[in-house]
Amino acid sequence: MVVPFGRRRQVGLVVEVADQSEIADARVRNIERILPVEPLPYETLALIRFASDYYQFPIGQAAFVALPAALRRVRYRGPKPRWQYVLTHAGRELSLSQFPAGAMLKRRLLEALRSGPALSRADLLTVSARAVNLAESWVGAGLVEKHGHAFPDVTPDEKEIASHELTGEQRLAVDSISAAMGSYSPWLLEGITGSGKTEVYFRLIEQTAGRGLQTLLMVPEINLTPQLEERFRVRFPSLRLVGLHSNLAEGERCANWLAAHAGQARVVIGTRLSIFTPMPQLGLIIVDEEQDGSFKQQDGLRYSARDLAIFLARQRRVPVVLGSATPSLETYNNARSGRFGHLHLSRRPAATRASISLVDIRGMAKGQSLSDEVLRAIGARQAGNEQSLVFLNRRGFAPALVCTACGWNAGCTRCSARLVWHLRDAVLRCHYCGHQEKLPRACPTCGNQDLKGLGQGTQRLEQLLVARFPDARVLRIDRDSTRRKHAWHTMQDDIRGERVDILVGTQMLAKGHDFPKLTLVVVVNPDSALFSTDFRAGEKLFQQLMQVAGRAGRADLPGEVLVQTQFPEHPLYQALVRQDYKSYAEELLDERRRAVFPPFVYQALLRAESQSESMLMDFLNYAASEAGTAGQAVTLYDPVPAIISKIAGHHRGHLLVESASRMELQRFLSEWRSLLVQRKAARVRWSLDVDPIEL
Ligand code: ADP
Ligand code: ZN
Ligand code: ZN
Repeated sequence: MVVPFGRRRQVGLVVEVADQSEIADARVRNIERILPVEPLPYETLALIRFASDYYQFPIGQAAFVALPAALRRVRYRGPKPRWQYVLTHAGRELSLSQFPAGAMLKRRLLEALRSGPALSRADLLTVSARAVNLAESWVGAGLVEKHGHAFPDVTPDEKEIASHELTGEQRLAVDSISAAMGSYSPWLLEGITGSGKTEVYFRLIEQTAGRGLQTLLMVPEINLTPQLEERFRVRFPSLRLVGLHSNLAEGERCANWLAAHAGQARVVIGTRLSIFTPMPQLGLIIVDEEQDGSFKQQDGLRYSARDLAIFLARQRRVPVVLGSATPSLETYNNARSGRFGHLHLSRRPAATRASISLVDIRGMAKGQSLSDEVLRAIGARQAGNEQSLVFLNRRGFAPALVCTACGWNAGCTRCSARLVWHLRDAVLRCHYCGHQEKLPRACPTCGNQDLKGLGQGTQRLEQLLVARFPDARVLRIDRDSTRRKHAWHTMQDDIRGERVDILVGTQMLAKGHDFPKLTLVVVVNPDSALFSTDFRAGEKLFQQLMQVAGRAGRADLPGEVLVQTQFPEHPLYQALVRQDYKSYAEELLDERRRAVFPPFVYQALLRAESQSESMLMDFLNYAASEAGTAGQAVTLYDPVPAIISKIAGHHRGHLLVESASRMELQRFLSEWRSLLVQRKAARVRWSLDVDPIEL
C-alpha cells in the first residue's frame, strides 16, 4: 500500500489491523492506495517478524529486505502481463483425433502447445492470427492455463536426463529424507564435491514437485551460475523454475518473486535473499554449501539465511537439507548431538578423489614463493596439456607473529585468540578482550630471534609464473582482474576452451566451477590463517582447502593438490591430507568447548563507527556501562577497536556479549537495544550483529 509519510509518499506493509490507536485520530492518516499485489501469506510475515526480533532490526526495514525492489516503489502498477499458455492436465489428455479433420486451427494449436513447455502470445501469433482467441477459449474450458511468467524453453539433453542409478548411500539419503516429507526434519548431507549431492537434491525436488509442492534451493552467491540453473532446467524441462538473486534486473526479479508467490514456480533457486520468498506450497528446503559465509548478510538486517531456513522448515513443517563437504561446526555439532539427521556420501561415483599432499617450505630460500616441487608439477601439467591452478588464500589474513623455528605464535593470555600484529604501533593486540603487549624480541619458547609475519600477492605470483613459464598462458583471476562486466564469464569460457594453462587466483576460484582439464591445484600460503585472531579461521581454512581440492580432476583425469606450508605437522594439515574433516572437526569442537566459543555459547556484537574516535569510544563505554547492570546470564567484554580500526575516515569498534542461553541473550539484547536507541548518540552509527561470523 502507499501511505503519506511526512511530505512524501511511501510504500508500506499492513502487518496488523487494530480497532484503536494510541495516536490521536486527527494524526492518523489514511492509506492512499493498495498496490496490486496479493497479500503476503501469514507465514512470510511471521518469518519477517521472527527475523526482526531475533536480529534486533526494526520490523519495517526488515520487511523491506524481504520484498523485491520493484514492489517498494510508490509507482508500482503491477506486473506487465507476459502471458504464457500451457496445457493443463486435461489439455494434455486431448488427442488430435478428437478434432474433426477440418478443425485445422485447433489441431495446429494443440500441436504447438505440445511442442514446448509454454507458448507466449508472440508464439501463438506465429501459429495463426486467431490462435490467441482460441487459446483464450481453451483457458475458459480448462484445457489451457495461462500464467504471467516466462519459463524459458529448454531442449533436454538425453545424457543428463538419463538419471543415474543411485549409489547405496544416495538411495539411503533420498529415502530417509523423503520419508520425512510433510514434517519438520533437519538433515545434514555430508559429502565431498562430486560425491553426488546434487543428484540427491534432484531426486528430492522431483518427488516434491510430484506432490505439487515447491522447493526452495539456496546456494552461495558465487555458485549461482547460469550453468547451475541450466543444469536444473535441462534435468527438469517441464518444471517451472525461477532464480532469485541480486544480479537479476529489477523487473525480472520481481516477476520471479511473484511467480513463487503465486505458487506457479515449482523451484526457486536463489541466494540468501530468497529465504524471504513467499512460497504458499513449500514442501522442501535445501541449503547447498551451508557453511558458506555468503548466507550471512553483513549489513542492515544481519540475518543468516541458513539459520532462518531452519526456522522456516519448522514453521512450515517441511524437511530442510543442509548440504556440505565440510559443514560449519554449528551444523556439525547439531548433527553430532542428534538434533539433525546425518547422512553421508563418501565416494565420488563419477571420478576419483584428488590426492592432497603437503610441501614443506621451511627450507625454501627467502623470497622464493613457489617451491621446486611445485614448479616441476606445474611444468609437467603444461607439457601434458593439462591446467594448473595456483591458489592464494588471503581470507582472514591478519598479520600474526610466528616463530619459524618452533611454530610458537603470539596468543592472548585472557582468551584463546591469537594476537594481531599492529605494524604501525609495533604492538600485539587481542581483538576479543582488548589485551595489548609489546612485540617480543625473541620467541618466548625457544629463544629464536627470527619472528615473522606472513603475506603474498596475486600480481607478484603472476609475474613470477610468466617469467618461469614463458610459453604458458597465465591468467590471473581476482577481484581486480574480474571487475569489468562479463570479464569473469569470458575467462571461464577461456578456461573451458583450453586457452589457459595456469590460473592464478583467490577464493573466487575455490567454489563450484567445473574445469575438466584442471588437474593440479597449488595452495601457496595458507599458513597465516592458522594464526588468525578469528577463532573460526581454522574451520574456514579447512573448508576452503577441501573446496579448492574439489576443483582438481573432476572428470576422468585424476587430480592432485599440493599445499605449501611451514607447519606440515599442524593437525589441520594432517587431517587435510587424509581428507578427514571429521577428526579435525571433533578436535575443533573440543577446543571450542574448552574455550567456550560458539557453538557452545551464543554471541552478539555491538558494532559502532564514527568519524570521531572519542565519540566512538564514549558510545561503546556507555553501552558497556548500561549492559553491566542488565543481567548475570550475559558476559560482557571490553569495547575494542575493530580489526580494521579505520575505514575511509571512520573509526570502528565493537563490544562482544555472549551467553550460554540463547533466550537470555535475546532478552538482554532487546532491552539493551532500546536503551541505546534512547541515548541518541550523535555522529555514531551502530548496529547489533547477532551470531556474528566475523569481527
Ligand atoms: P556434488 O553435488 O556432490 O558435487 P554431483 O551430484 O554434481 O555432486 O555429482 C558429481 C558427478 O557425478 C556428476 O557428473 C553426476 O552426474 C555424477 N553422479 C552423481 N550421482 C551418480 C551416480 N549415482 N552414478 C553415476 N554418476 C553419478
Ligand atoms: Zn620458537
Ligand atoms: Zn584476549
